[in-house]
Amino acid sequence: MKITKHLVGVLLGSTLTFLAACHSTSDSTKEHVEWGYSGSIGPEHWGELSPDYRLASEGKSQSPIDIDTSAVTAGGGDVSVQCTASVDELVNNGHSIQANVSSGGTLTTPTGTYRLKQFHFHSPSEHTIDGEHAAMEMHMVHADDDGNLAVVAVMIREGSENPFFAKLWPHIPAIRGANQDVAGTPFGPGDLLPAGRQTWRYSGSLTTPPCSENVDWTMMQTPVEASAAQVAKFREIMFHNNRPTQPLNGRAVQAGN
Ligand SMILES: [Zn+2]
Repeated sequence: MKITKHLVGVLLGSTLTFLAACHSTSDSTKEHVEWGYSGSIGPEHWGELSPDYRLASEGKSQSPIDIDTSAVTAGGGDVSVQCTASVDELVNNGHSIQANVSSGGTLTTPTGTYRLKQFHFHSPSEHTIDGEHAAMEMHMVHADDDGNLAVVAVMIREGSENPFFAKLWPHIPAIRGANQDVAGTPFGPGDLLPAGRQTWRYSGSLTTPPCSENVDWTMMQTPVEASAAQVAKFREIMFHNNRPTQPLNGRAVQAGN
């Protein structure tokens, strides 16, 4: 509820539909058609579930994708992620665990400057690198004043315990639709991002219905780590929540800084 009200002011059009559909615990903004990750409402059916979701089957610039590192070209440009902010609340929206964030983070890419709204997790990873999934993937969702979206993706591999996730994980709401107030949990770039900041960049879509396109994607080439227990706890609650990789259809993936 809180995040919807907050974002209505700055996000427009299909972005709003997206937020109502899958980044809110309330459907007060718009009725939406239920979707999921398996069975008759799984990813292969998203495009048939609602006219609003038709890009899921008809779109030509969909996400996630496989990053074929042998086909990456230069020219991704410079990216600056300033993510010093704090987490306000953790939300189990039924599709992911989402951390809603207070103002403070900005992302600048060759397409513009965006503000950090939330970050959330997928398991296993949605993108693959040379065909390989990581244990999890984090999406830092940014928007500009016109509702254009830019997402920074960070692969999470199983390894050492992640100290920042260790602060959040005890508060993950296990029940769909539940919120947990964690106001005042600060974080900086070192809490979310790897030390190496080389990127892969491409133009794609939301990975959840309505799968709107023209999303500016930046993927960190270097993963961060989380412990096997941290990955297991997320999976216990969310099971699997990854959309399969989508055709490139001639899009370029460019290495950036
Ligand atoms: Zn995501």
